Parts: sequence; structure tokens; C-alpha cells
Amino acid sequence: MAHPSGPTFPWVSSSESTASGSKNAIPPADSAVELASEVGSLLEELEGAAVGTRPPAVGADTLVQARLGVGAGLFAALRCKSPPVAAHSLRTAMTCSAWAEHLGLSASQQEALEIAALLHDVGLIGAPDEVLLKPGPLTPQERVVIDAARKQTVQILRAGCFLPEVLEIAEYAGAWYDGSRSGYDRSGQDLPLGARMLTIVEAFDAMTTEQVYRSAMSRERAMAELFRCAGTQFDPYLVEQFALFAETGLSTIRQAVAGRWLDSLDSTSANRIWGFAGGLAWGQQPDLLDLFIGRLLENMYDGVIFIDGAMRILLWNHGAERLTGIGWESISGRLWSPELLQIRDERGVPIESEECPVACTIRSGVQSLRRLTVTGRSGRKVPVDVHIIPVNSERAAEGAILLLHDASSEITLEQRCQNLSQQASLDPLTQVGNRAEFDRVYETFIHTHLERQLPCSLIIGDLDRFKLVNDTYGHQAGDEVIKALAGLLKNAARPGDLVARYGGEEFVVLCANCDNAAAARRAEEIRQTFSQLRLPCLGGSPITVSFGVTEVQPGDTPETMLRRADRALLLAKSRGRNRVVQLGAGTESTEGGLLLNLFQQKPPEADILMQQRLVTPVPLNLAMEKLRGFVADHCGRIVSAQNNLLRLEIDIAPSRNRRAADRPLSFLLDVRMKETHATIDQQSGLSRSQTNIHVAIAPKRTRDRRRTDLVARAKEVLLSLRAYLMAENDPNPDSPWEEPPKGKRRGFFSWLWRK
Ligand code: GH3
Ligand code: MG
Ligand code: MG
Repeated sequence: MAHPSGPTFPWVSSSESTASGSKNAIPPADSAVELASEVGSLLEELEGAAVGTRPPAVGADTLVQARLGVGAGLFAALRCKSPPVAAHSLRTAMTCSAWAEHLGLSASQQEALEIAALLHDVGLIGAPDEVLLKPGPLTPQERVVIDAARKQTVQILRAGCFLPEVLEIAEYAGAWYDGSRSGYDRSGQDLPLGARMLTIVEAFDAMTTEQVYRSAMSRERAMAELFRCAGTQFDPYLVEQFALFAETGLSTIRQAVAGRWLDSLDSTSANRIWGFAGGLAWGQQPDLLDLFIGRLLENMYDGVIFIDGAMRILLWNHGAERLTGIGWESISGRLWSPELLQIRDERGVPIESEECPVACTIRSGVQSLRRLTVTGRSGRKVPVDVHIIPVNSERAAEGAILLLHDASSEITLEQRCQNLSQQASLDPLTQVGNRAEFDRVYETFIHTHLERQLPCSLIIGDLDRFKLVNDTYGHQAGDEVIKALAGLLKNAARPGDLVARYGGEEFVVLCANCDNAAAARRAEEIRQTFSQLRLPCLGGSPITVSFGVTEVQPGDTPETMLRRADRALLLAKSRGRNRVVQLGAGTESTEGGLLLNLFQQKPPEADILMQQRLVTPVPLNLAMEKLRGFVADHCGRIVSAQNNLLRLEIDIAPSRNRRAADRPLSFLLDVRMKETHATIDQQSGLSRSQTNIHVAIAPKRTRDRRRTDLVARAKEVLLSLRAYLMAENDPNPDSPWEEPPKGKRRGFFSWLWRK
């Protein structure tokens, strides 16, 4: 039976709840800052009771720690996720505690109720912020999300709490007294007493607190609501009892509880209920526990990072990826330092390694909670509540957990300035990155991936025959088409990717940690979806887009990669449009150790910096095509083409740490190529064509003094050439280089080149 007319309380409502829905108490935006510090102000109120008996600065953390011991980490995580929910839990726990005392419950019943009340909403950690922070009423699907997150509370507690009474209260805290709420197998007096009490107290607290969808109800009105739903949602006897108890004044009651927690609880008794219990369900099912923890970490909106005692990063969840723009693959196992995220302190001053708060927490074993600023990949500064929790075993400090909660929604003046700078990086029509943003990010993006030997790809898309669209349907319709494509690209982007409008009707997607094949697949999916759109602005006529795709490869510079992608796009256009063309060898062909033995060949002759024999499995004419791509993407020039010798000139920007004013380095490349046959099968004598290459690299200006830089850059040129040709080092570099026979074959090379 549903109760459509029943009260609708944020944390306790039924799945059928009406107007306000099963929705969290979220402060309206303009009072966000005020309510974000609610736990703090609550404590100020509570501290009044302790004047004279306590040191002056007793914080919410201390209070919660006194009650929960090591379990306070869970509460702290909840507080990072949502200060209002944490404040609600603390108030509820203290009211429950005092009421339990008033009713004459045993100490153990009171303890279980206090712990369950403090943590009854911890499952909301897994609820997405867009649902949890939604200002309006929730849709049925969103309610399901919140209900499911609340159900996770019990799973979380089971993972570390020994006390079955706590689990039982948490499990039935959402049940209705008359059994009409689905998902619970008990009703009436079979429901644990603690659960029936908690249901009433949290509903009362929710009703008397400011909600986003209505102001706080008066106590009288809230009490009337409790009575209206007594017998259906609430235990009628307990509602009466609560009404009598509440007469005494709840804030005085809370002060008394705070005093008792701080005075009579010690860490041994608080800690005794926490640990990984052998006899508990999780203990018997370690796989399930792993699965649960994995899912929780994966789905948490907040960032969770684990750093071990040697300061290595061992865990970096999706939330951390989203917040920082840094993927797990690229950060795993690296040494932690505040510079990684360009962390700034409360005053905006960069935090140096020496004063790293993580190292400090590991050393001292004391947890900390601070509002810091981190800088993500795109350079965007994000205010975060950083909670650092030490992880200690009996033997040693094992490391620390970092919880990062995006505090952007608590808008400050600084945040508003930041939003302005964000606007400056967005294209106003499509709300994807603009050209300036792409230029800013691109080079670092490529270099970071190259340095870490991770694949990354670039997709360039250009609308087909777009001039015609403008001419036929008008510019406004054209704009709609541009927005539709941008929307698709944005939806297809993954964490760490960047979508930008490169110009007019041309878009780029930087795909982090993604190889050529995967990027081409993604482009193909977008192409197909786009071609099936029937936009009203075009009267339902189809429109298509062409894509060029390439992956970063050894020896690449940002420019060569961009030119290669552009070449791929031009090919897609010339091959008939509405298609994806992929160019480049990618990183996969790089074998381990190749770089090391690549240059241990014969000592170079006078001016020659290095020379190398390569072999590629493609025939000569195809190898020549690839060489053309290399020359085009490096903006190279052909100095001469005679017989079998091609001389090229290539300019390379000086290394990144040099001054921008430095001239580029110019190299001459002498390339010889010949087609040979490689035996596939000795017995049958089966063979296939391949191309042997000899390349020698020399500086154009022999007096160039930047020798170290020269050699390093020449290596990059050679690596790049090898990648373009899809070649490997010749396994027989010392075999004599026999030129093809004179006559017809002799001029073949230069003939092919001029073709
Ligand atoms: P192709 O298939 O070869 O790409 O043909 P195309 O007609 O798309 O050729 P091109 O890329 O040269 O044309 C781009 C056109 O895009 C020209 C310009 O009028 C139009 N365009 C550029 N920016 C915008 C814009 O912001 N809005 C609209 N409506 N049109 C734009
Ligand atoms: Mg076009
Ligand atoms: Mg164009």
C-alpha cells in the first residue's frame, strides 16, 4: 500500500514519496557557503556546554572521533561528500542518544543507536552529485538512485563494523512501521527498536531543517506531521514518547550528549567495534568485499587516492581522474608530490614538497581536513576539500588516504573569477573548448603521453559540404548542425579527453590514453550516429562529417601529429567524404629496448650524426608514399633526388627547455631505398617484397655548437622516419648494401619520387 499523502522527508521518505521526493537536504545556492559549515556551527553551539571543562577548540571531528574511533573516517568521507548530510547525521545521533537515555535503554542499545545514527546515510557517498545536489524534485529514476545509495550504507558498515545491532538498525532505518514500503521483510514491533526511533528522529530533523524545496517547518508543524503518519510510517507509541521528550528542548539535550561523549568515551572502547571481522559476511566472502570496494571506488564522485609509506601512488579512482584530468594509467606507481596537482594552500600559495600535507599526515598519524586548490590537466583550478587520513598498522605507517571533494559549488568570489577564465576557454556557440584552449593543452598533452610512453590520439572532424548547408538552409540552421556535432563529440569524450572547436565547422578531439584503432573506432561510431541524425533545421535531410585520425608515434612533434591528422582528413574528403581515415604507425610498434640499441651502429662519419639500416615489410612504392607523408608532415624539402639517393632537409624546433628565440635545428637526411625479397618459407621458396632503407643524418650547419641537443633531436628525426615507414632495424645491418642493377632499376627511386 502506498501512502501518497504521507510526509516526505529528505532522507527517510518512501519510494512513493510525493512533492519533495526522497531528496537530500541541499542548501539553496545562495546560502551554500553558510550551510556548508553547518557541522562547524553546530559544534560551536555544542561547545557552549563544554566551556570550562574542555579546551576551547573542540571540533566536530574530535566529537565524532570520540564516538566512532577509527570509524570516524567514514563520517569524514560523508562530510567531504556533503556537509549538510553529515550535519543532519550528527544532530540525529545526538538526539537519538539523549532520547535513548530518557527512555532508559541499556548502554549497549544506546551505543548501537548512536553509531547507526551517525552513519545511517554513509551510503550517499556513492550517489552522484547531480542527483544529490539537484535543486528541484527528483524524477522516479533519480529516487531509485538515492534509495540504492542509501541501501549501500549497510554494505559499507558490514565491511568494517563488528556490532550486529548497528547493522540491524542501519538496515531497517528506512522501513515503514506498517510494512508498506517495499524492500523490507519486517514491520511493526519486529522492526528493531533503534530503527523505529531513528526513523522518527531523522524525519523530525529533516522537517525542521532548511530544505532546498521548502523552508524549515516549525517544530509544531513537524510534530503534527509525525502524528499524522503515526501508525503508517512511524511507530505510534514512539511518536508520543518522542513528543514528550522533545519538550525538554533539543539543543540542551545535544549539549549534554556532547559533554558525555567527550568525557566518558575512550579510544579503546570506540575502536573496539571496528575491524575486518572473520565471522562477518564480508569476511567469509573476500571476493564480494573486493567487488564492493571496487564498485564503490569506481562510482564515487569524490576523488580517492591511496599513497603508501614510500609515497607511491597505489590507487587513483575515477573521481580523482575526473577532478584532476590525470588518468590512472599515467599516474600509477609514481611518487606523490603536491606539485603533481599544483596544489595551493588556503591563501593560494603553492605547496612545496617539503611541506607536503600527505607526508606530514603519514609522519604524525594525525588526519587533516583543508580547503586547497588543485590544478587539473587543462589548467583549471578547482577548490577541493582535501581530507587526509593516515593508515597505520601495528608495525608502521602504511600510508595515507586522500579524499578530494570538489568544492566548486560553494561559490566564492575566486570561483566566479575562475568561471570567467573558463568561459574564456570555451567556444560560445558549442560550449566545447575553443581554439585557444586546444593550443594551450595540445603540446603538453602530447609531450606527457610521449614521455610516459602512453598512446594518445587526435581526431579531426570536418562537416561535409557545409557551404551548401548554409546556402540552402541559412546560417542559423548551419549553426544548429555545428552544435549537434559538438554535442555528439562531447558525449563521446572520456575523462582526460579534450574536445575543441578548431575553427568554423572543424573539430578536434584529443583522446587520452587511446590508440589509433580505438580512436578510429570512436570516430566511426560518431560518424555513423551523425549520419543518421535527421535535424529539423535541415527539414530532415541527412548531413555527414569526415574524420582524420592519428596516434602519436615515436619522433613526433605536436606539429607533425597535427599535420598527419589533417592529411588523414583531406584523404577522407578526397575519397568521397562521410568516412574515417586513419594514418600513422602509432606507438605499438615500438619494441622495448629498441631505443637503446638503435644507435649503437658503426661510428658516424665526420659530419654524420648517425646512420641506420632499416627494413620495412612494404614494397618500394608504398614505402615511398610513406616517405612523402614524413616529408609533408615535417614541412621538409627535397634537396636532390638522384638515382637511388634522396637528400631531404628537415627543420626541427629546438628542445622544449630551450629559449623560444632559438633557431630551429636543420638536418640533412640522405635516404637510400631498395626493394628486396624476404624468404617466407625455405622449403617452397615462397618470398615477399620488402624495402631496405639506409639513412644518414647530418646537421645542415656543420659549425652548429649545440651538439648534445643536435644528437638528441637527430634521434627523434630518425625515430619519426622509422615510425612513418613502419620500419624496424635491419637485423643484418652489416651485410653489404648492394645497389640495384644499373639500367631500368637504377633511376627507379628518383622516378618514383617525382611521380
Ligand atoms: P568539405 O566537404 O570539403 O568540407 O566542404 P565544405 O563546404 O564544408 O567546405 P569548407 O570546409 O571549406 O566550408 C566551410 C564552410 O563553413 C564555410 C563557412 O561559411 C562555414 N562556416 C564556418 N563557420 C561557421 C559557423 O560558425 N556557422 C555557420 N553556419 N557556418 C560556418
Ligand atoms: Mg567542411
Ligand atoms: Mg572546413
